[in-house]
Amino acid sequence: MSTSIRNPESQPDHFTVRLILTFFSLAAILLSIFAWNTIGQSTQPGLEMVLININHGDSILLRSTKGETALIDAGYPDAGTLKYLNEHTVKHLDLLIVTHHDEDHIGGIPEVLRALEVDTYIENGQVIDTDYFHELDKTLQETGVRRKTVRTGDRIPFGELTLEVWNPSRARPDVVNNNSIVLFLQVGKVRFLLTGDIETPIEERLINSNRDLRVDILKVAHHAGNTSSSPAFLEAVKPKIAVYSASNNFPGFPNEDTIDLLRIAGAKVYGTNFNGTITINTDGKTYSISTETGQPLLPY
Ligand SMILES: [Zn+2]
Repeated sequence: MSTSIRNPESQPDHFTVRLILTFFSLAAILLSIFAWNTIGQSTQPGLEMVLININHGDSILLRSTKGETALIDAGYPDAGTLKYLNEHTVKHLDLLIVTHHDEDHIGGIPEVLRALEVDTYIENGQVIDTDYFHELDKTLQETGVRRKTVRTGDRIPFGELTLEVWNPSRARPDVVNNNSIVLFLQVGKVRFLLTGDIETPIEERLINSNRDLRVDILKVAHHAGNTSSSPAFLEAVKPKIAVYSASNNFPGFPNEDTIDLLRIAGAKVYGTNFNGTITINTDGKTYSISTETGQPLLPY
């Protein structure tokens, strides 16, 4: 027999129970409306893309507003990528992407690998017999970073964003520039295309891929040299903004005729040789551009 004693006075009546239930139901509805609004605001991730001024070469930092970081190429050794990352307190990279294996893109990668925490290293899978490639390969093995080879059609998650791989479909041993990983990224309505050092044959392949190539921001291929940025490609891409990375002391890069072609295609053109480090910010609806030198556009 139970020995517990119940006090009828302490039991809530039905009205009180209903009142409590109604209160909690209302609170739950209000909370879910608040949460929905918060999620609604946060599903629009923004992005900052920085073309780091490292003279001749490429080094591009992507930072999402949620805090994810991706570095695409790192210029020649000691060219300034690591200095920029240190000055901007970037200590961790979610993605480290190497478009292809020329020294003006991979030379600075070993020092980045040794200094920063890197989650995933992404490459085109080509093996070339140069000192700087072997140095990179050795550093990758020493640091034990996860390596991934990508191909056309692969999708690389970057926080809530996705980097679409548009080249290469396979890494051919006899070419380097045309094995460049080409990346397409859409942030809300704002479209980016990063072309590594591809040349005209890959531009033609992209035109024939039946993709919608139109973008707002184009990272111009191959330091705005004249082996890329064909009129047909620019006509398909129709960039509103074209940014390239180059120096003033590497003959042929940038090429003034190429700059003209970019302008004829309707692009506003910015280059690190004139503008210094170039930073593009987008909230997915619109975008803004700031330059290290404060100069708005190229004078020529
Ligand atoms: Zn290059």
